[in-house]
Amino acid sequence: MSFILHGVGVSDGIAIGHAHLAKPTALEAAHYLIPRNQIDREITRLSNAFSVVRKELETLQASATDGPAFAEFSAFLELHHMILDDPMLSEAASNCIAQTHCNAEWAITQQMEVLLAQFEEIDDAYLRERKTDVIQVVERVLKALLGHPGYIPPPVKHVGDNILVTHDLSPADVMQYKQHRFTAFLTDLGSPTSHTAIVARSLNIPSVVALHHAHQIILENDYLIVDGSQNIVIVNPDKYVLSEYRLRKSQLELEKRKLKRIKSIATMTLDGTPVELHANIELPQDVEQVKESGADGVGLFRSEFLFLNRDVLPDEDEQFEAYRTVAVNMRGLPVTIRTFDLGADKNIKDMTRVAANPALGLRAIRFCLAEPRLFHTQLRAILRASSFGKLRILIPMLSSACEIDQTLHLIDNAKQSLRDEKVAFDEKILVGGMIEIPAAALCVDMFMRKLDFLSVGTNDLIQYTLAIDRVDDAVAHLYNPLHPAVLWLIMRVIESANRARVPVAICGEMAGDIQFTRLLLGLGLQQFSMYPAQILTVKRQILNSYLPDIIPLAHRIVKAEHSEKICGLLVKLNK
Ligand code: PEP
Ligand code: MG
Repeated sequence: MSFILHGVGVSDGIAIGHAHLAKPTALEAAHYLIPRNQIDREITRLSNAFSVVRKELETLQASATDGPAFAEFSAFLELHHMILDDPMLSEAASNCIAQTHCNAEWAITQQMEVLLAQFEEIDDAYLRERKTDVIQVVERVLKALLGHPGYIPPPVKHVGDNILVTHDLSPADVMQYKQHRFTAFLTDLGSPTSHTAIVARSLNIPSVVALHHAHQIILENDYLIVDGSQNIVIVNPDKYVLSEYRLRKSQLELEKRKLKRIKSIATMTLDGTPVELHANIELPQDVEQVKESGADGVGLFRSEFLFLNRDVLPDEDEQFEAYRTVAVNMRGLPVTIRTFDLGADKNIKDMTRVAANPALGLRAIRFCLAEPRLFHTQLRAILRASSFGKLRILIPMLSSACEIDQTLHLIDNAKQSLRDEKVAFDEKILVGGMIEIPAAALCVDMFMRKLDFLSVGTNDLIQYTLAIDRVDDAVAHLYNPLHPAVLWLIMRVIESANRARVPVAICGEMAGDIQFTRLLLGLGLQQFSMYPAQILTVKRQILNSYLPDIIPLAHRIVKAEHSEKICGLLVKLNK
């Protein structure tokens, strides 16, 4: 049967291929009642699921080979065996089915909650942390109950045209998928400016998020059309729709190839105003794409991605190597390394504290100032790499003079430690600040007195100005880059920086969206940073823009109050 699902497109383009269902990252269990005469069968279903998981663990144990992590791996499997055999889990869940007539999935998750609450009471931090193991074991049992054993990924039958369908992906999950060849991503949750969406976009493949129940409705190997620009997924299309989409897809590919012709032309508006286009990256290997795009440099290296998906954090030498590689491969073009923005939706293994409002919590520079040793290591690594290219340091989430002073002091300490060891670095390395909290935009003059350059992170600036959680799809419709308050803050920062001749860029998603290119040019922006695949499209728009016509319209948009008026003016601006 053919049907259409509607979501939020976070990366344009069309993909056609087979669905590959990945494991959901969140535990979910439906709750329903089992008829009295089927209770025994339900208990047996649960105990069969335990047996399946026991076999999975044994298979894993057998497949483990000697190696540096062998002992650790075996201990981990043994622990999972113990949890699985613990009567507190298996017997209690069976009793729960017998007494409350609930389904097995519900019983096991309820029992997991009981165990987790008990773990919370434990003083010993190591033991408390074993909560994660309980969750992982329960996750395996749940998958066995639902008929998706956990240790073997579903076979990928159609190599090369797989579309990943999942409930949710953390930014760390998406990083792992960078190694795989998926032609599109679909998720039940998510919003356009979540880090997950940003990373998916950087893979340069169509993605649609916020599809709600897609991973339950779509079946493994269903044939799908993903249209990222129209926010839709067509499941098992008929032959007419399919041939129409195949035609559209090849037209888009042709257009992409044509765009490459403007790669080496200087970027300037029709009236001759030069504009710099930089690239956002997450890992050193992304530099390949940056070079293909003809970018003028790396405007945002989200260095925290070096810290994800690992048990041991990268030490100074490993980080140095990553920054040096980017510096060298960019051959003298500027590379802006943002110091790690961990916290909120990007967490490392040791960040066990669960904040009530993570986006407002110990994130980015706040986390660095609370963990000065980690920060010192990163600063030394960046500074050491600065003698191999043109590096700049960018600090995320700054909000006050005191934070800036503390940060600059720590940078000085790192510099001094290298001088003491006679290690070379760029003494004149520039230090900039991200403007992503309204307080920073309002105090931009103070920021400019203390820092060498500014970069506006519109993703967070919008989140914090409008009080909209950027990862929550329930409020994604309220996330509005064209809100007068947002535009006013952006205009204020650009105008102040231009007046003071302090370099200013925008590195949030607005910079890569051609709907906003002319508006930002009209407000005086001359440096944009975006994911590499967007650079040539934005460049084409700049080459076709005439500032004397644009400036008055852009200012009218900032002054307009109602969204209809703003949208009308934007259409006029983009004609
Ligand atoms: C931003 O907030 O706009 C930004 C570029 O940083 P991130 O998206 O990584 O939070
Ligand atoms: Mg940000």
